[in-house]
Amino acid sequence: MVGSIVADAMRAEDVAAGKAEVLPEELDLAEVPEEAVAMGLPDAANEFGGAVERSGRKDISLGRNVHSTCFAVTEPDADDEETGDREAYMASVLARYRRSLVERTRHHLGYPYNLDFDYGELAQLQHFSINNLGDPFIESNYGVHSRQFEVGVLDWFARLWEIEKDQYWGYITNCGTEGNLHGILVGREVFPDGILYASRESHYSVFKAARMYRMECVKVDTLITGEIDCADFGKKILLNQDKPAIINVNIGTTVKGAVDDLDLVIETLENNGFKGRFYIHCDGALFGLMMPFVKRAPKVTFKKPIGSVSVSGHKFVGCPMPCGVQITRLEHINALSRNVEYLASRDATIMGSRNGHAPIFLWYTLNRKGYRGFQKEVQRCLRNAHYLRDRLRAAGVSAMLNELSSTVVFERPPDEEFVRRWQLACQGSIAHVVVMPNVTIDKLDHFLDELVAKRAAWFPAGGSQIPCIAADVGEENCACTLHRC
Ligand SMILES: *Cc1c(COP(=O)(O)O)cnc(C)c1O
Repeated sequence: MVGSIVADAMRAEDVAAGKAEVLPEELDLAEVPEEAVAMGLPDAANEFGGAVERSGRKDISLGRNVHSTCFAVTEPDADDEETGDREAYMASVLARYRRSLVERTRHHLGYPYNLDFDYGELAQLQHFSINNLGDPFIESNYGVHSRQFEVGVLDWFARLWEIEKDQYWGYITNCGTEGNLHGILVGREVFPDGILYASRESHYSVFKAARMYRMECVKVDTLITGEIDCADFGKKILLNQDKPAIINVNIGTTVKGAVDDLDLVIETLENNGFKGRFYIHCDGALFGLMMPFVKRAPKVTFKKPIGSVSVSGHKFVGCPMPCGVQITRLEHINALSRNVEYLASRDATIMGSRNGHAPIFLWYTLNRKGYRGFQKEVQRCLRNAHYLRDRLRAAGVSAMLNELSSTVVFERPPDEEFVRRWQLACQGSIAHVVVMPNVTIDKLDHFLDELVAKRAAWFPAGGSQIPCIAADVGEENCACTLHRC
């Protein structure tokens, strides 16, 4: 039985004495249930359902869920309570899982998550089912909520994006995607026959919104930097002059960290006869909270004719659970919302029940770091991103870093093992590292040293096999034999 095997490995008295985390190092993995082994091994822990290894690359096969790494739920045995076997089993699984989290956190570079935070002070709130269901500004009958914190956080963002307290509406979402779904829905409600325009490099949630809402959607070309190509945008809106335009503007694209030129988008719309007939949603999931602190960066502000802005809370800010912030104009929200008697509140959010812990986490960080703290962190991220780019280039690796960005794009390592070890996000022939506040010079050095050492084996003989990625990063950033000078 599962329970008794683990009990052999870990004595019940240890668990009772609160030493559940101390696992014997010599634990024989062959004796531990398969699911616990999978999680204890860092590389196995990184597998995800539906993915199969083929020719070194991970292919995703639809309609095939792989269950190899799951922790099965097993029914308690009748005598579990006396023997403590079950408790011991669960404690051992959790302890191993925790160790794999520590290891995976240490080797993470690819996704834009700030993994460095300390919310120990908030552990005391774990015992409460905090739920902000309904509208943040209209208290519902459910009293265990955190609207006090939510509205405080929203006010902070409203100030950041320059909209008066009595002019804005917003809420704390479950993620950046929910912000996009909401922003585009508001646009659609304002202009029911509007066409959605988004650059090809927009996040997939934008195209998901188009499918969900059955909106006509036009993809706009991008420049090599990943920014929207406004020449192409101008051409495409002119083909649909009779329909209003709903535009997704990227404040930091997912792959290249490119910032769309908001002013040029607005100018293009107004010069082509769309004045008063457009709605702009700014997808700031990645960089929306970093851009205000970048010197010389164009401003995202409600003083410009934009309709909504969203940002992810677990990216730059850092948060143990995914969350986000969505701000829009109050005037738009009345078209969207319905009063709900059952809640005694208003329904203008995408979700029903809403995570009431997330606003407290955001409130906590905003209070601790404040505007100045974020500014310092953003500057350090940009410095470290330059450091990474420069060292990659010095090592003969193709690499690109956009001016207003901490996303370093470079040649995709041809070794999936290495990609998985550092959790690099890849697309086609490029990979990227998003430099967040937890990405220190030490960590980058560790990564670079490994990359350089491995690369000598990947590309022996002077690197004549180094792939050309000029189409992705531009000739000036490409280090292939043809383009390097
Ligand atoms: C991450 C990201 C999103 C989605 O945010 P989630 O919080 O992961 O849902 C949307 N847009 C961009 C540009 C992103 O980088």
